[in-house]
Amino acid sequence: MKSWHEECGVFGIWNHPEASRITYLGLFALQHRGQESCGIVSLNNKLHIHHKALGLVADGFSESVLDRLKGPTSIGHVRYATTGDNLLTNAQPLTATLKEEPIAIAHNGNIVNTKSIRKNLQDRGAIFQGTTDTEVLLHLLARDSGSQFEDRLVNSLVQLQGAYSLVILNSEKLIAVRDPMGFRPLSLGQLQKEDGFSWVVASETCAFDLIGAKFVRDLEPGEIFIVSDGGTRQLWLPKSPKKAQCIFEHVYFSRPDSIVFGQGVYDSRKNLGRLLAQECPVKADLVVPVPDSGVAAALGYSEESGIPFDLGIIRNHYVGRTFIEPRSNIRSFGVKIKLNPMSSILKGKRIVVIDDSIVRGTTSKKIIGLVRGSGATEVHLRVAAPPTTGPCYYGVDTPSRSELIAANNTQEQIRQFVEADSIGYLSVEGLFKAVKATSQSYCAACFDGKYPTALET
Ligand code: AMP
Repeated sequence: MKSWHEECGVFGIWNHPEASRITYLGLFALQHRGQESCGIVSLNNKLHIHHKALGLVADGFSESVLDRLKGPTSIGHVRYATTGDNLLTNAQPLTATLKEEPIAIAHNGNIVNTKSIRKNLQDRGAIFQGTTDTEVLLHLLARDSGSQFEDRLVNSLVQLQGAYSLVILNSEKLIAVRDPMGFRPLSLGQLQKEDGFSWVVASETCAFDLIGAKFVRDLEPGEIFIVSDGGTRQLWLPKSPKKAQCIFEHVYFSRPDSIVFGQGVYDSRKNLGRLLAQECPVKADLVVPVPDSGVAAALGYSEESGIPFDLGIIRNHYVGRTFIEPRSNIRSFGVKIKLNPMSSILKGKRIVVIDDSIVRGTTSKKIIGLVRGSGATEVHLRVAAPPTTGPCYYGVDTPSRSELIAANNTQEQIRQFVEADSIGYLSVEGLFKAVKATSQSYCAACFDGKYPTALET
């Protein structure tokens, strides 16, 4: 059985009169991190009230639902699940009652030793409701004999390997956790209110911008940040010698207006484009991004190369990401309805098309066909990331190695497949430089094959 969840966004707010509505807004800002289910849990007089729905945040919550989610503290989650796994039982926050106490967990990331923990628990009689890796944490918490919740949490978390940025709510505390390697982002903020401020926590700082909160700092890898009526407290998980912050957050996944791992994502993407122009120059008339994911990199490429930038391809925003469509016949349809090339801009010109990354190569092939069909005389593809050669096991949805075009083909074969006049990828060194990352602090396994943890088969 496939047992994972991926590509999620988490949010939490402590002690604010509009907690559920602010959580709704926070999730709305994090919608790009997951569109298949959403959920909010509120804490009201030591009890939890929850609502979970399939689909988008704006569709899943109504005024009356938000009114029902009473209480000064809320946490929320948006989730993208792989095909077949999109059940409401897997929607988060996961909720349960442990030793007469309500608990809710919102998780971003992927725990890589789920299989063995799950088997061990099942051998001892555990019954699982869904298929998400997060449920193992609930079971570990339920079985631990520690008298304090924090002790049980630490005892459980040290058994997990892999990626977890968590927002947890029990009957009296909001707890934010980042795994010791810090795979996924998690930031702390403060929202002003009449009598002081409320602590907020979110996967990305763009959620703070929307609700008008101040970004305070990132949670440190291995940090457990606890908010209760008594104030705040920190605990630490055993230190990991290596950090593994996900470089793909900067390449594609995070919103460009977020600050992730201490660096503005928009700046990173422009830098990726600048370095790409240095590493893979080409004689051309126009730099054209694949919207929206390639826009910032294309601006950087244009600035560095001196080749003018123009929006030669227009995107229809009302179509879901093509990547999410599960079947290949729907995917190819998706590209056509989503992107429209403008021949008035492209005709008779040598075009450099910039995208953030190539996964299967299907999208690039369609785009190059569209651009050529609009009268471009040459189409050069430049990719603002290295070839994607490995799947991610830590919370980004990449298909299996067999579907990754760069894992199975040379660059010349990829060029032929996408039918470009030339192709160029950024180097791994260029990627690290653009993001101002070191190999000791980032995971780039999807590009360099260096997986920072052991993996279960
Ligand atoms: P493909 O046709 O499979 O090569 O799709 C490549 C496109 O998918 C690129 O333009 C990326 O912007 C986008 N992409 C890359 N990784 C992901 C991901 N994990 N989730 C959604 N979209 C992605």
